[in-house]
Amino acid sequence: MHKKIAGTLIFDAKEALAAPLVLAEAARILADGGLVAFPTETVYGLGANALDAQAVQKIYLAKGRPSDNPLIVHLAEFAQLQELACEIPPEAEKLARHFWPGPLTLVLKKRLVVPDIVTGGLDSVAVRIPAHPVALALLRAFGRPLAAPSANLAGRPSPTSAQHVIDDLAGKIDAVLDGGICAVGVESTILDIRGGCPLLLRPGGVTPEQISILLEKECLPCTWQEDTAMPPPSPGLKYTHYAPQVPLCLVLASPEKILAEIARLQDVCRRQGKHVGFLLSRELAAEFDAETVEILGSRTNAAELATNLYGALRRLDKSAAEVIIAEGYSEAGLGLAVMNRLKKAAGSRVLVLE
Ligand code: AMP
Ligand code: MG
Repeated sequence: MHKKIAGTLIFDAKEALAAPLVLAEAARILADGGLVAFPTETVYGLGANALDAQAVQKIYLAKGRPSDNPLIVHLAEFAQLQELACEIPPEAEKLARHFWPGPLTLVLKKRLVVPDIVTGGLDSVAVRIPAHPVALALLRAFGRPLAAPSANLAGRPSPTSAQHVIDDLAGKIDAVLDGGICAVGVESTILDIRGGCPLLLRPGGVTPEQISILLEKECLPCTWQEDTAMPPPSPGLKYTHYAPQVPLCLVLASPEKILAEIARLQDVCRRQGKHVGFLLSRELAAEFDAETVEILGSRTNAAELATNLYGALRRLDKSAAEVIIAEGYSEAGLGLAVMNRLKKAAGSRVLVLE
C-alpha cells in the first residue's frame, strides 16, 4: 500500500477516491499534529492542521521558511470560510462561488481562532478551496482546515510531482500522497479582497482579466517595490522564491530577435568555458542547436508553459548546466504568472531587447 523513504511514508493516491484507507491514515497523521504533503491542481502543498499552532510550526521548520511568511489555509467547502474569516465583502463571496474549487486565494480579515503562526502575525488570513480530487478528499477525511504552503524547501522551485516533494523533504515530513503531476503547474492567484476592491498580490492560475470581468471592477496590480521602506502587502513578495540553484538569465525579445540574442549569449558563455542549459519554447528550440535544452511548450500556449515550468527548472538544476538562458513570453492571460515566476527565478538577470 505504501513505501517509506528516509522515514517518510509515500502513499499512492492516484486512485485516492478508491482508497479510503490511505486517506484515513493521512487524516490520522494530521490529527496527531503531523505533516502530510498532498497534490493540488496548482502545486503540491505541505499540510498541517491549521488550528494547531504546534503542528503549523513544523511546516516552517521542515521547509526552512521564514516565520513571517504566512501560509494559505485550504478548505473543503465554502461554509468553513465563515469560521476563519470575518467582514467578508460580497465581492469575495462572488469570487469564491465562481472560482472555487480552483486556483484563487482570497485574503480576508482573520478570526481569532486562526493561530498567529499561520498568518505570520498579520490580522488577515489567506484561504482557498483546491480543485484536485485528492486534496478535496483529504480535506473532507480530516474535516478541518489545512494550512499548506508549497511542499518545497524555501527558495526552491515549487513541486509539481511527488518526486519533487521527496527530493526536497523526505525524512523531514511524515507522509506524501502521490497524486501524479499537477495540472496548472504554478501557484494560486493571491487576491486581497478586504473592502471589496481586488488587489493582485501574486499572479497565478486565475487571471486578473477573469477577476475584472466577474466583478466588473479593475483588478489592481500590486505596485510594491523592494527598495521602498513600506512593508510588502504580501510578505512573500520580499523573498526570492522559485529560484533554481543555477543562475538563470531571462531574455525578453521579439520572436524575430530572440534567436540571434540567445546564440550570442551561448557564444559568450562558451568562451568563458561554461556549460549552458536552455529553457525554450518548442518553436525556438526547433531553430536552435544546443546540448542541454528543456522545452516548456508552445509560446502561444501559456497553460502548457505553466504546467512544465517547475519540473524543467528542477531538471536543469540537476543537469550539467552552470548557467540557464531562458526565453521570455507574452504576459497575456496565464502568461503573467509564468513570467512572474521566471522573473523571480532570474532576480536581476533580465535582458530586455527593444
Ligand atoms: P506558498 O503557499 O508557498 O505559495 O506561499 C503562500 C503565499 O501566500 C506567500 O507568498 C505569502 O506571503 C502569501 N500569503 C499568505 N497569507 C497571506 C496574507 N494574510 N496576506 C498576504 N499574503 C499572504
Ligand atoms: Mg511557496
